[in-house]
Amino acid sequence: MLRLRNTLTRKQEEFKPLEGDTVRMYACGPTVYDFGHIGNFRTFVAVDLLRRYLKYSGYNVVHVMNITDVEDKIIRDMRAKGKGLREFTDYYINEFLNDVDLLNIERPEHLPRATDHVPEMVEIMDRLTAGGHTYESEGSLYFRIASFEDYGKLSGLKLEGNMAGARVDVDEYDKDDARDFVLWKAPKEGEPTWETSFGAGRPGWHLECSAMSMKYLGESFDLHCGGVDLIFPHHENEIAQSEGATGKPFVHSWFHVEFLQVEGERMSKSKGNYYTVRQLVEKGYSPDAIRYLLISVPYRTQLNFTMDGLRAAESALDRLRNFRRRVSDFEGEAGSSPRSAEVISRAQADFESAMDDDLNTSGALGAIFELVREINIALDSGDFRAEDRAGALDLLGRLDSVLGVLGEEKKGMLDPEVDAMIEARNAARAARDFSGADLIRNELADRGIILEDTPQGTRWKRK
Ligand SMILES: [Zn+2]
Repeated sequence: MLRLRNTLTRKQEEFKPLEGDTVRMYACGPTVYDFGHIGNFRTFVAVDLLRRYLKYSGYNVVHVMNITDVEDKIIRDMRAKGKGLREFTDYYINEFLNDVDLLNIERPEHLPRATDHVPEMVEIMDRLTAGGHTYESEGSLYFRIASFEDYGKLSGLKLEGNMAGARVDVDEYDKDDARDFVLWKAPKEGEPTWETSFGAGRPGWHLECSAMSMKYLGESFDLHCGGVDLIFPHHENEIAQSEGATGKPFVHSWFHVEFLQVEGERMSKSKGNYYTVRQLVEKGYSPDAIRYLLISVPYRTQLNFTMDGLRAAESALDRLRNFRRRVSDFEGEAGSSPRSAEVISRAQADFESAMDDDLNTSGALGAIFELVREINIALDSGDFRAEDRAGALDLLGRLDSVLGVLGEEKKGMLDPEVDAMIEARNAARAARDFSGADLIRNELADRGIILEDTPQGTRWKRK
């Protein structure tokens, strides 16, 4: 039975969908004004792991991830570049999806854009206004947080110091700034504008997630995910808007992913430790290793992302793929060895009990490496048979349907194929395209070929 920590109750709880076997989950998606950095992708990969493990556990999943395509920073940057809103955000949405595919993140069932859902937002504003939760000031519409008794229940915020009528117009702000927040912003020169029954203007950031989640998942649904930085104000405001409008509990369980540090420090452009996925790939790291490192620490623990960690992730993956190849190449007697069969079923049980424990991914990986160790011993000692081969490969495939790091098994290569790839690598190096050369070396390594550069040229051998 899967247990997840619920930010709302501050407890680990047994997870059960509200209705039948279908899990309805929502995750706050990217704000598309730049390439996603690895901190953003830690959250997206953790949510993907949750999604995959729910499927592994036998549930159907309906997963919605919104795309924030109108927001303060987007407007700032599109104006700086002299672009229109749609043109500017289309580009970054496309790049985001490329990174999603690179990191083997499954596409959610729905990827709605905020600007396609303005009527749904207006409908919530209507309901909130009818219920006395809003007021207008200078052409903008605000949510009156004093009108919602439960305000603060997710973040644990106390509102004693809240000044009645004090407002905040920006999309992002700190806990110290708990004020009436903006639902609809009055039009401003140079900003995109929609005509609505509340007058012209544009939506504030928080409203879109209430509108899109309830449209695709219903007024009460199972899971809402995001980074811990979204607990306040964004998710607190989503609860106030949604429950204020419907009078029903909005979300059963809140799932929040911790921050990531880089080389022991908070990631920032000024410290030079700020990385996008594409920058790491250009440095020659494989997307699989990035994903592996991102999932290697349980999602509720801070992760220290280091280049040493990435190299260790590459070798861990090498080890797992070499193991898979060794088992796959095994040809032996029919039947099964009781000891190997026991090792395989224990690995599955250990993996599942770690994942059931609030997605303890480090424990789950530990179970896989224990399998590798034990089966290697069995192979060395001849205590392994054809049915064990099938059982081990089947288990690895199922576990990787959750982890998503191993990829398809690549077949061994013929000598002329290896030679042709080494030639291509030499050409890349001669053209000083070192990242291209590294990609070829990594591809060869994935297929069991080790290169050695010597003064006489490149030699190779099979692992
Ligand atoms: Zn959101």
